[in-house]
Amino acid sequence: MTTVYACGRMIDGVNSDVKENCCVTVADGKILAVTDRPPEQYDMLTDWSGYTVMPGLINCHTHVGILPTADNDLILRCPLTKRVVIILRHLIQLLASGVTTIRDLGCYDKVDLEIRSLVRSGRVIGPDMFAAGPMLTMTGGHAHTVGVEVDGVDECRKAVRQRLKDGVDLVKVMATGGVLTKGVEPGSAQLSIEEMKVICEEAHKAGRRVACHAQGNTGIRNALAAGVDTIEHGFYLDRESVDKMARQGIYYIPTFCAPYFMAAKGKELGLAQEFIDKVNASLDAHAASFSMALDSGVKIACGTDAGTPFNGHDRTAKELLLMHTHGMPADQAIAAATSVAAACIGVSDRGRIAPDLRADLIAVEGNPLETLGCLENGVKYVMKQGRVFSTAALKEAILS
Ligand SMILES: [Zn+2]
Repeated sequence: MTTVYACGRMIDGVNSDVKENCCVTVADGKILAVTDRPPEQYDMLTDWSGYTVMPGLINCHTHVGILPTADNDLILRCPLTKRVVIILRHLIQLLASGVTTIRDLGCYDKVDLEIRSLVRSGRVIGPDMFAAGPMLTMTGGHAHTVGVEVDGVDECRKAVRQRLKDGVDLVKVMATGGVLTKGVEPGSAQLSIEEMKVICEEAHKAGRRVACHAQGNTGIRNALAAGVDTIEHGFYLDRESVDKMARQGIYYIPTFCAPYFMAAKGKELGLAQEFIDKVNASLDAHAASFSMALDSGVKIACGTDAGTPFNGHDRTAKELLLMHTHGMPADQAIAAATSVAAACIGVSDRGRIAPDLRADLIAVEGNPLETLGCLENGVKYVMKQGRVFSTAALKEAILS
């Protein structure tokens, strides 16, 4: 079946201009053509003349298996059936907020891998997932309650090979401490260069990328020396690291939503004082790191770190707004969640509106290039591989 979507405006995810009144023709889950007028033959025409149509959003840093509550380990104490229900709810929240692809960066057991496969086979509704399985961290290191503890190059090598055997799409590694692990400093270096080198070597041999949680400067330097592909958070970047990232095309995912929600809601909603203090201590450095990376032409992709306290799975647009507030132009913020995000994940079949790509689109009220905020509540329809969902109906499904 061939369907023509008559769009009032279109943002293609790459160019910074808006195309007025055009038609996107979709068949078999793919974009067939983008034209000024409807083609001569089609089966159905849908009137989206009141909307701006753009590529579905891509969130490069989520944790669908984690509840965004003050206690991030709460989910680990939930019975299995409840955990599954929570994950399915998170997937619907993501889709309802216009997200058609996620890169999920760390989950207990192999739950994310199983959910990914169920989504991909069409048996579960949600964004297409690229999943890392449990994150690799040193013994007692950041996120050790959820991840796998590894020490020394041999254990690191074995752990990556095991993840590959389990079917991960990428590997997640912890180069530094983090805010949400008790007694662990975000600034402290954790896995060594040698350990992370082996992790990168094994992952790259198998064609998988390595996403690296790196907050403190020494750990960021270690991660870059080891050869990781993306720096997550990057609270304390320096000139040398930024230049290296720009030169080598290493992506930066600042995840502003994570510290933002902890700082804004932590006190009121009972976040441990230790975590609030660690977040507040990093805010200025984080903003300065982002500005330096932005000015230096580092590729910056959108990721919210959904699942961290009070940072729900429906806040992808908020990340765009926060990047915008910190100086990123609206068109670049949109690209960070579309074409740049697709390149960050390493997929070329999405993130833009062009023939032969996946038909992953959203229809938004308003013009996000003029008012980025309309992405927060204005997404009315989301199309994933040609299948259209009303966001109102999805939100209703979450409530019922
Ligand atoms: Zn994370």
